[in-house]
Amino acid sequence: MERIVPINALVGPDKYALKCPNVIVPDMIVVHNTANNAPAENEIAYMKRRPDPTSFHLAVDHQKIVQGLPLNRNGHHASATSGNESSIGLEICYSINDADIDKFMAAERLACKWIAQYMIEHNWDIGQIRKHQDFYPKYCPHRTLTLGWIRFLNMISAEIIAQTYVPTPVPVAPVPVIPIPVAPIVMRHNVGELVTFGSCYKSSTSKVGFPPNGEAVVPSVGMGRGTITKVYPGTNNPYLINNGQCFVNDGDIRPAGSNPTRPATTPAPQPAQAPPIQIRLGVGSIVRVRVGSKTYKGGSVAAFVFTKKYRIDELKGDRAVLDVKGLCTAFRISDLIPG
Ligand SMILES: [Zn+2]
Repeated sequence: MERIVPINALVGPDKYALKCPNVIVPDMIVVHNTANNAPAENEIAYMKRRPDPTSFHLAVDHQKIVQGLPLNRNGHHASATSGNESSIGLEICYSINDADIDKFMAAERLACKWIAQYMIEHNWDIGQIRKHQDFYPKYCPHRTLTLGWIRFLNMISAEIIAQTYVPTPVPVAPVPVIPIPVAPIVMRHNVGELVTFGSCYKSSTSKVGFPPNGEAVVPSVGMGRGTITKVYPGTNNPYLINNGQCFVNDGDIRPAGSNPTRPATTPAPQPAQAPPIQIRLGVGSIVRVRVGSKTYKGGSVAAFVFTKKYRIDELKGDRAVLDVKGLCTAFRISDLIPG
């Protein structure tokens, strides 16, 4: 809040003897109403030019405060020595006409702001704010009294609170910065590596695989083979094969040098051993699908299926449904190998 500085319209020292003869240390403010309809500068000007001792320090209207006497000299406004000898006389303007009530109320508010400021700066208490009526049987400050003197003192008190209020900073707990662990991207294969793979993708982001085709296919097992020519870390299918033949991912790749007809992760079919194995399989068994198998209904199977392990979730006769939540495809039990 900006400090209020009254407009300086002080009487000259040649008027001190008449208007404010004594040096004082003020210990109270005496409040008056002008019972007039003039602005503050007019009230001060009139006070200064009238030939009698009548004087006051400040006139307050709805917009400004004008000062006519030094605050360290006494004035003549309270009709009694006890009210004049150590006080600051303050007149609130526009008190006479009902039509000026808004101006008067604004002038009261401005007066309260200045009084509060003065009280804070001089460590005063509210008992040092007095009314003309306290010193002389005159109904002054008339409109302030009519509206309520306690109300006026309360306005000052509220201003003191407003002007001295220091907001308590709300402690803000520092927000811990918790690093989000980021799993390092580990590329298991590199550019230049010759790999074999069970399925391909049309892009590094695609989730729909298709059997390898074209020149890199190794026909005997439906596997692809090619050289990694570019790597896109962090993608679904990070390895570009043969500069654009297709994309593949780690799940389908076998390292260079492995025999595509006998993939390292897929045991070769061993029909002769199938019967005893079948006996051990049941719901919950982990199995692989024998390379080259068809589905239970005779449908062809994507090559990648042969490279992974599945759980038998349903088994009825020789019909086994694998991995209901994933693959969810039925095979003949004779086409399954313990995983
Ligand atoms: Zn008065």
